[in-house]
Amino acid sequence: MKIIMLGAPGAGKGTQAKRIAEKFNIPHISTGDIFRANIKNGTELGKEAKKYMDEGQLVPDELTVRLLLDRVKNDDCKNGYVLDGFPRTIPQAEVLDRELEKLGEKVDYAVDVDVPDENIINRMSGRRACLKCGATYHLQYLKPKKDGICDSCGSELVLRDDDKPETVKKRLTVYHEQTQPLIDYYTKSRVLHTVDGTVDPDDVFKAIEEILR
Ligand code: AMP
Repeated sequence: MKIIMLGAPGAGKGTQAKRIAEKFNIPHISTGDIFRANIKNGTELGKEAKKYMDEGQLVPDELTVRLLLDRVKNDDCKNGYVLDGFPRTIPQAEVLDRELEKLGEKVDYAVDVDVPDENIINRMSGRRACLKCGATYHLQYLKPKKDGICDSCGSELVLRDDDKPETVKKRLTVYHEQTQPLIDYYTKSRVLHTVDGTVDPDDVFKAIEEILR
């Protein structure tokens, strides 16, 4: 089962992607997490990606596409995967479709987690992330057990540079211009499903389970 998560930054698609991955026992692949791991490890790719990420811009397709295609060739992807944050542009979606077609495969579901911009700005300013393991929390909606500390690995939680309000506004503009056209793209290929992302995360997940059942 190959699933793509769509939605604005901060819509909660990462949280839902992790739950889908757990439930269906498939890997959760987040290009954002891969870039952040590269930044943390000081790789050349990380250095290049950081320039764009800190500005709220997309990392160029040349850097992103190869990275993703290599990842989905791993053995753990044999039974499918859930992609979180990829594709983010029409050319990325086209490359993915072309590569899958060569293997006689296709995207099975594109799930759009729909949240209006006003809610997004409020949500992102409360988001806290663990830069070590990638877990994300929220000061209001998804509190860690101990303030400022990651439940999973015990590291300190921070407000990511790309979650700061000025950057969030920029990311929303980029989302509307470059990523939202994917809604039409996957509607045309008849795999798009939309869920209301403004409700409780447990209810968002129930709606997604209904779709994937
Ligand atoms: P995310 O954690 O998915 O919100 O991604 C954080 C940042 O990583 C984005 O704002 C982009 O700068 C970059 N990024 C992640 N995935 C992609 C992608 N598929 N294409 C281009 N840039 C990406």
